[in-house]
Amino acid sequence: MSLIDSHCHLDSPEFDADRDAVIERALEAGVEHMLAIGTGSGPPDLEAAIRLADKYPAFYATVGVHPHDAAKAGDADLRRLADLLAHPKVLAAGEIGLDYHYDFSPRDTQRAVFIQQMAIAAAARKTIVIHTREAWDDTLRLIEEHWRPHSLGGVMHCFSGTPTDARRALDLGFYLSFGGIVTFPKAVDVQAAAKSTPRDRILVETDAPYLAPVPKRGKRNEPALMVHTAHKLAALRGESYEDLCGITSENFRRLLKP
Ligand SMILES: [Zn+2]
Ligand SMILES: [Zn+2]
Repeated sequence: MSLIDSHCHLDSPEFDADRDAVIERALEAGVEHMLAIGTGSGPPDLEAAIRLADKYPAFYATVGVHPHDAAKAGDADLRRLADLLAHPKVLAAGEIGLDYHYDFSPRDTQRAVFIQQMAIAAAARKTIVIHTREAWDDTLRLIEEHWRPHSLGGVMHCFSGTPTDARRALDLGFYLSFGGIVTFPKAVDVQAAAKSTPRDRILVETDAPYLAPVPKRGKRNEPALMVHTAHKLAALRGESYEDLCGITSENFRRLLKP
């Protein structure tokens, strides 16, 4: 049974001591491919994920400016982003979006850089990976206005909203990617959303090194642990583990076109 981790940060310094072993464990656990998210420490470095994808066959990559780093992005960085989207292993722009929880960059700057990156991705005919936190209304409004007309779909990464939020994202053509949160006992809204997500719109991810699933909650997350999340999703949805692996991998390939 093989899985695809649709979102991880294996460039993180937390993996510097044992990255090869982490990747080996992922492959042994059946995690055949991983989408390395390229936001890294922010501009001017935009190639954190490309370095992994160039080195390891199991990785695909994204490039993008995280909303946290929006204030660091200059015009030259955004031009460079457009060039990097043409790299053969880069499948999407991401993670991009809005984070009003931390507000590490001013909100108007976050919105401007999000809109600019949607335009860059549309020009490259690549899809997008969305990070949104405490910013659902603005995120969906900007997607509706600046992204939906391009019909390129997208990923709501680490989906943590309600079934209503899920419906709104699905209506915009998005896929919902579920991570470790869905295994947390109190995450009843996320579990309800996972149950109601159509078979052809569900993805699974780790967001490693963050948000390890139960029974490893609180520890460093890594792609091999995604089997716990996949088992939980299968149980919630009344599908077999094999089926869940199959549909999430198929969905990844349809949307991201590796
Ligand atoms: Zn994120
Ligand atoms: Zn992430």
